[in-house]
Amino acid sequence: MRGPYHVEIEITLRCPLHCVHCSLRAGEEKTDLPNENYIELVEDCAKLGVRIFDVIGGEPLARQDIYELLKFAADRIPKVIINTSGYFINKKIINNLKKARIKEIFVSLDGPDPEKHEIIRGDGRNLFQKTCEGIKLLIEEGFKVTVAFVLNRINYRDIPKMVELCSTLGVKNLFILGFIPAGRGAEQQKELLVPKDMLMETLIDLKRYENNGKVRIMVDCSMDCAFYELKKNSCPAGADFITVTVNGDVFPCGFLRENQEFKLGNIKERRFLDIWRDFVTNGYEKFKKNLEIYYSSMNDSESKDICLARKIYSDFNLVQNENSKPA
Ligand code: SF4
Repeated sequence: MRGPYHVEIEITLRCPLHCVHCSLRAGEEKTDLPNENYIELVEDCAKLGVRIFDVIGGEPLARQDIYELLKFAADRIPKVIINTSGYFINKKIINNLKKARIKEIFVSLDGPDPEKHEIIRGDGRNLFQKTCEGIKLLIEEGFKVTVAFVLNRINYRDIPKMVELCSTLGVKNLFILGFIPAGRGAEQQKELLVPKDMLMETLIDLKRYENNGKVRIMVDCSMDCAFYELKKNSCPAGADFITVTVNGDVFPCGFLRENQEFKLGNIKERRFLDIWRDFVTNGYEKFKKNLEIYYSSMNDSESKDICLARKIYSDFNLVQNENSKPA
């Protein structure tokens, strides 16, 4: 039995920051995924041949035991990625990551200058500078660094500057994620959601911004399949991609967590191997059927095949177009 290609694991809700767009309200509590559940999950992912094990938070580096946990995964799964705000990065942390056999890191930068980055993530702690220095250190030490940039209404015009910044820092990959107003981000969806026409323009222009091939731009699945006009792939939820939340719930995508009909199981109650086996043998069709029902209940001609998370969380009446948005 083949496993999902990519498993995302929310290892903690700890976080020293309080980013306005956070879909998890990270930093408001100190919940960790228990170690025994993590260990079993890694063992099961290894047995299933999972290729990418994606460690997210919260801030994974806020966990004291993170290096042992990362190493346990890196010894068993081909590619282990850690996602960080960069807040804790320094030489000592980098050495620990090396010992844990981590080679690839996604670091968040949400603006090309201190002002934009601080509005979204900072609190006057000079995070932009600190994050850029952390990225340079990581690159010097041989890590593959991708800058993760959540596109929102404050920064959607900044892609060319982000490309320039990546180029200056020596970063080869810029990963653009669509803002999905879940969690804390829901409180500011009016301020952060990019109206559809602006988003379309931005996405159409993307290739123009690539800096002579020095910086590769990638977009996440929510944007990749968000709009018919640009659609390259369909939603990978469940087929190639699984999220395990910090409380052990297994979902085809983390953004579906509010909808219990999409939950596949919980690794505190059953092994991931068994949850996945059931999903593959008799759950996948049911999941797809639930999706159909969900889409059709939205009574929206554009719903089918686009990112379900985007539909669930966004009030599209607010964001259809700049010209049609309410005053
Ligand atoms: S629902 Fe959206 S964010 Fe989730 S996997 Fe599908 S395309 Fe990606």
